[in-house]
Amino acid sequence: MKVKPKKHLGQHFLKDKQIAENIVNLLSLHGGYTKVLEIGPGMGVLTDFLITRPDYETHLIDIDAESIVYLKKKYPQLQNRIIQGDFLRLNLDTLFDEPFAIIGNFPYNISSQILFNILDHKNKVPEVVCMLQREVAQRLASPPGNKEYGILSVLLQAYYTIEYKFTVHEGVFDPPPKVKSGVIRLLRNSVEKLDCDEKLFKQVVKQGFNNRRKTLRNALKPLHLPESMHTHPLLDKRAEQLSVADFIELTKLAKEA
Ligand code: SAH
Repeated sequence: MKVKPKKHLGQHFLKDKQIAENIVNLLSLHGGYTKVLEIGPGMGVLTDFLITRPDYETHLIDIDAESIVYLKKKYPQLQNRIIQGDFLRLNLDTLFDEPFAIIGNFPYNISSQILFNILDHKNKVPEVVCMLQREVAQRLASPPGNKEYGILSVLLQAYYTIEYKFTVHEGVFDPPPKVKSGVIRLLRNSVEKLDCDEKLFKQVVKQGFNNRRKTLRNALKPLHLPESMHTHPLLDKRAEQLSVADFIELTKLAKEA
């Protein structure tokens, strides 16, 4: 018995067990968690390795009813740790009352939404290991000054150290996706709260990248920054040139003035 791959659920099943093991091996126990949630296990290629580890307890969530039937049969020992549902609608606050890691070969069509959801619960999630479309993975892990650097890169890098680990080619999936994949690891840093108004920080970042080819002086016009700021040198730059620290500085100035 096999799960029939469904395109609308982003199902591309990894066939290469060595790659699966390498992905699972990236979990470093950073932050001292003892639970791991796998998003989108599909037929369990990662799960096979996760369940052999004594350091943590593995939980699964998949939206696909057919996968769930398959997984419940394959892993009788996980019975009540297999959730059928949409990760985007899962309440991460009430799921566990302790920190947990997240792992998964994410459905690529919703990978950014998954990461935004994790970001909303960053204090509960000390580590994330995930496979995404390669370009997205590179963008998240890239430093400022890079064309790939974007909103989610800045917001995630404010709270996580992100490392690009390796590229995975199309041919090791059934069915093969149209794009290459990349595996990244996110480790929660020690920042509890940014040294600025975090809500305004988000607005500044989003607005800045909304017009990423404009200087920030122009891109941020809709935020009505105070006159006194208009000569600030950071405003001569474009959003993609600013580090997290630069965005924090800008946010503080906008708030003070
Ligand atoms: N981990 C498996 C499958 C990856 S394909 C492997 O590597 O082979 C992506 C998986 O995510 C599929 O099993 C799909 O059913 C599941 N999925 C898609 N959307 C989801 C959602 N919103 N919430 C949870 N799982 C989802």
